[in-house]
Amino acid sequence: MTKLNLFDSAGHKNVLLEDATHEGAVQANQHLIVHNGKGMLLDPGGHRAYNQVMADVSSELPLKDLEVLFLSHQDPDIVAAINGWLMTTDATAYASKLWKRFIPHFGMDHLVEHRLLEIPDQGMRLSLNGCELLFLPAHFLHSCGNFQVYDPVSKILYTGDLGASLGNQERVVTDLAGHIPLMESFHQRYMAGNAVMRAWANMVSTLDIECIAPQHGAVMQGKAVVQQFIDWCRHLACGIDLVEGVMRVPQ
Ligand code: FE
Repeated sequence: MTKLNLFDSAGHKNVLLEDATHEGAVQANQHLIVHNGKGMLLDPGGHRAYNQVMADVSSELPLKDLEVLFLSHQDPDIVAAINGWLMTTDATAYASKLWKRFIPHFGMDHLVEHRLLEIPDQGMRLSLNGCELLFLPAHFLHSCGNFQVYDPVSKILYTGDLGASLGNQERVVTDLAGHIPLMESFHQRYMAGNAVMRAWANMVSTLDIECIAPQHGAVMQGKAVVQQFIDWCRHLACGIDLVEGVMRVPQ
């Protein structure tokens, strides 16, 4: 699947990069935000994706202008190649303070460790060359130290694993009905519980969102599907709500 511009206007661009997933690995999206020539790469991915993601980013801007690497949480499909990214760029990486001391176990050179900065639990605002991006807390969706990014220019909410779908043919969907079967079992098992989903739904309902862009599967484009998705999350039983059924001694 080729790369896709989710937004492109007046020096601000949001690109869903080419699909670099190899067989046997869960499909993963890499997203790039460029504002007036400076870039932020979200969830850069693992070693097998590294070369292609690097080539894709380089086709959008000079690598020296990649300023920020955002890590929504600690999983290998997000973080595994972080050492390569820090060694070959001057970018600063951001991850939850809960994961800062775990991420070096992926094999981070001590020369670059100081460029991994922590996001406080309550989230933060970060200026990308003058564009103020929000790092929103989304803890327990699914990781205990988890963040999402809201871009107020494109009105895209980058949700990490929330909104993930598996087995998609399309990269963009505009209606939720046919999409739920590709999301449901993943959310039931990976998301921590309905109380957290409701807290998230309340938080993001205060934002003006045109597009939900997850780290796996299709992007949900348009206000109608965004609202449907938030409502679906608000009412979904998941995680500890369903744990009774699986806590049994294996036979
Ligand atoms: Fe994950």
